[in-house]
Amino acid sequence: MLIAVFDIGGTSIKYGVVDRNGSFMEEGSFPTEANQGGEAIIKKVITKSLEINKAWNIDGISISTAGQIDAVKGVVVHATDNIPDYTGMGIANSIGNATGVKVKVENDVNCAALGEYWKGAATDKKNFLCLTIGTGIGGSLILNGQLYSGSTHAAGEIGHLTLYPGGQACTCGNYGCLERYASSSALEKMINESFDSKVKVIEFFEKLRYGDKQSEVIFNRWLDDLTTGLKSVVHVLNPELIVIGGGVSAQGEFLLNHIKQSLFKKVMPNHRRNLDVRIAVHQNKANLLGAAYHYFAD
Ligand SMILES: [Zn+2]
Repeated sequence: MLIAVFDIGGTSIKYGVVDRNGSFMEEGSFPTEANQGGEAIIKKVITKSLEINKAWNIDGISISTAGQIDAVKGVVVHATDNIPDYTGMGIANSIGNATGVKVKVENDVNCAALGEYWKGAATDKKNFLCLTIGTGIGGSLILNGQLYSGSTHAAGEIGHLTLYPGGQACTCGNYGCLERYASSSALEKMINESFDSKVKVIEFFEKLRYGDKQSEVIFNRWLDDLTTGLKSVVHVLNPELIVIGGGVSAQGEFLLNHIKQSLFKKVMPNHRRNLDVRIAVHQNKANLLGAAYHYFAD
């Protein structure tokens, strides 16, 4: 059985043709052009799906996308203005009607967690939290081996834990949310404010590795904020694993060791007894793999 998988992000739409074992027959991507709105995006996905179906005779389509998704109905429950007119779109129906095959839809952070669960960093765990640290901080929960999406498909919004009441304004309408201080873009902002000349995040981590004091101050503040947020989540959920994905996870072991050290100092002894932190195995492909798992797991 072959299916087409799509990962609809803010800048690009990745796709693939995949079998039940997670082997890819074909892979590619095209620009999202998000400003054209939800309908235009779904049209593009339909065009590509028909093309793929001609070549591979697929049995179904599974979609990973930004936005809060009702996975039962395949509908976008809520999306930010990054993709105009996306909220309310019945993705599964539109694509299903145009292609004649079964279509499933799930949120992209949830798909990343499912991808890591199926083929990545969490194959040996049943209770974990998957974090995507990028422009914001996305979170997804796998509890007792099942995706936990909440009563209105919005669970896992770890980026919006309040870290500093009355702090920086957040896109969610509140102030002082974790992602304002501990996302990749928050780190980038701090770097830009601290150094006179433009320093890229990669260069910043190089400086840090060589013991640059100015970089250490920034990094320690960022790290401290991140692990203070994680501490609360660990105390509530008592997970066995936290998987760190997103742009910043490219820093690998170096970042992992610092997060572990800082976090383990903050959590209560019984909560760290069985707690591990790992870097996501699949960076670009986790969402596509998770979409495939979401389809085949039924
Ligand atoms: Zn917020």
